[in-house]
Amino acid sequence: MQFDIISIFPESFASYFGVSILKRAQEDRLIEIHTHNVRDYAYDKHKTVDDTPYGGGAGMVLKPEPLAEAIEDVRNKTGGRTRIIVFSAKGKPYAQEDARRLAAEYDRLILVCGRYEGIDERVVELFADEEFSIGEYVLTGGEIPAMIVVDSVARLLPGVLGNEISAETESHTEEGVVEYPQYTKPEEFRGARVPDVLLSGHHKRIEEWRKDQSEEMTRKRNK
Ligand code: SAM
Repeated sequence: MQFDIISIFPESFASYFGVSILKRAQEDRLIEIHTHNVRDYAYDKHKTVDDTPYGGGAGMVLKPEPLAEAIEDVRNKTGGRTRIIVFSAKGKPYAQEDARRLAAEYDRLILVCGRYEGIDERVVELFADEEFSIGEYVLTGGEIPAMIVVDSVARLLPGVLGNEISAETESHTEEGVVEYPQYTKPEEFRGARVPDVLLSGHHKRIEEWRKDQSEEMTRKRNK
């Protein structure tokens, strides 16, 4: 899968995508991540990408022309089943189900990051296949939401996780259901012991314990 991220701060992404599973997935050519600077599509010599809001009010709004041209240029470069996603605090809440759907149905995601007071609404109307919010709070920009979508989609693609993590038993694989608690060595840490059942080597009992714990955690969380 190819991810194309359109942002006025493309330098935000290198460190997160340059480590661990996502780094390896790129090296193994399982995913490609490209960033595109909106300023490269600005007309004037100052490379202006924002302007004051019509109707007044605080802050600046990302102008439609450079964003539209960036999206069109990126969209026209390669083919495949493409989805254009715009991030905004007012969008549909992003969930694991969306990650699963995007991973299964598309070859390329174009992710558009807002900044300041947001993106001129006409860009959303003209281009967005999906408008996602990643939570009920306001961030300074869409770059972290873009990292969240790339990360959550990429790890569902065949081969990306290898044997390290199972995406099948994880939290939210089934809607609203969370995973059992995890433990590793040492057996005792500051007086707290790993539950005996996990040390028993008895696979059936471990499986039952994990199922009970998952149900219990899910119940508590949904109270
Ligand atoms: N004025 C906007 C509002 O009240 O809804 C907030 C704009 S926010 C400061 C700037 C940009 O950050 C947005 O255009 C969007 O791309 C991104 N952003 C902020 N919060 C977000 C969230 N919860 N989910 C997704 N994107 C978000």
